[in-house]
Amino acid sequence: MPFQTHLFIDPNTLAVSARRCKRCIGCKKIVLASNFHRAVRGKVTSRCKACYSTYHAEKNEKMRSLPLRDRIELSVNRANRRSRLRKSVGPPLNVDDAVAKWTGKCSNCDHDLTFDWWPRQPNDDLAIIDRVSTRENRSYHQNFTWLCNACNSEKGGFDLCEQKDREIEVLQRKLSQARKRAREESIPYASILHPV
Ligand SMILES: [Zn+2]
Ligand SMILES: [Zn+2]
Repeated sequence: MPFQTHLFIDPNTLAVSARRCKRCIGCKKIVLASNFHRAVRGKVTSRCKACYSTYHAEKNEKMRSLPLRDRIELSVNRANRRSRLRKSVGPPLNVDDAVAKWTGKCSNCDHDLTFDWWPRQPNDDLAIIDRVSTRENRSYHQNFTWLCNACNSEKGGFDLCEQKDREIEVLQRKLSQARKRAREESIPYASILHPV
């Protein structure tokens, strides 16, 4: 819903001011534009700041009330979706394997994991299923570990290193082939100095 301009009258001075407002889909009230969070492309959220917090708190509360296996299953589904998007090779990860490996702690830093997700926050403790080896673009099947979001984000750098290493390997191979070709095609220096 777009913004509307509303006129406000100051009860003390009777001064009139025009302010941008919008109706919140949560509380249905007309709320000042500044009471919405900013969203992408200059837009704002459809819920006012207060309703936005309540909405996500309730969502997390609902998540916490689910059995652990169901929460793990949601993570597994997300991981398998990532695999499909990346066109990874190998079978999908199954829930039993993910449950078996779950200790409630990050396998890297040993921090307690949670399934809570809060928008506009780093969510460092969020449980993430991560691939151990990304070199051959293998799926998560027998190639996964539970990480906290903080360790997973940090590991992004290592993934990048692995990718760059691979690019360097390819370039080095091309370079040595080019050098070999250059050697084969070159004319001996002596033949230029003393034409036969
Ligand atoms: Zn609201
Ligand atoms: Zn960690």
